[in-house]
Amino acid sequence: MSDLKTKLLLATTNAKKLKEIQDLLSDFPVQCLSLRDFPGVNIVEETGRTFEENAKIKAMGYAEQTGVLTLGEDSGICCDALHGAPGVFSARFCGEFHSDEANNTKLLDMMNGVPDENRKAYYECAIALAEPAKLIGVVRGQVHGRITRELLGAGGFGYDPLFFYPPFQKTFGEVPIAMKHRVSHRGQAFGKFRELLQNYLKEK
Ligand code: IMP
Repeated sequence: MSDLKTKLLLATTNAKKLKEIQDLLSDFPVQCLSLRDFPGVNIVEETGRTFEENAKIKAMGYAEQTGVLTLGEDSGICCDALHGAPGVFSARFCGEFHSDEANNTKLLDMMNGVPDENRKAYYECAIALAEPAKLIGVVRGQVHGRITRELLGAGGFGYDPLFFYPPFQKTFGEVPIAMKHRVSHRGQAFGKFRELLQNYLKEK
């Protein structure tokens, strides 16, 4: 029956994010595809200055190339003491071919000596939905916390072992993934995205 479902391309090149997005949409009546299903596709450059701009650029760029309804997602972490860095450069903080470990080490180094009261940070996630040549909508989510002084926990991905979330009294690296989703930037944005997608499917 799956070929009767609307196809939705999850346009991310990050395997761990793809898995999180698949989980967040697992009960939804769509057939999720990934960029692996379109081997000839050209990688869309993330040239935006905001998460929202990049989410739109990715959704529009991949929908145009594939002809498929596309979800474009952009996310990252913004630190007050670093004037919002790494922000849209979160994935590329150490350059194009980075590892999460290298990014985390760089962030810890840059935050070295920053007092507790100035270690505030937030994650943001923007998700756009587009058909070829038509933006359907964009939604966003944010979650606020602070940067720890050492890596804590091995769960999640990216900056999670450094992101302390006060209501949990733990980092996102120390909690089960479902617990993270309940409050995370991506969890919140997906709550809104599901409404957007539901309305789109109803009107189709
Ligand atoms: P994008 O794939 O260009 O959107 O880059 C997002 C980057 O932001 C990731 O590679 C991570 O470094 C960081 N990031 C975004 N969301 C999360 C999260 O939920 N946990 C940890 N790191 C995240």
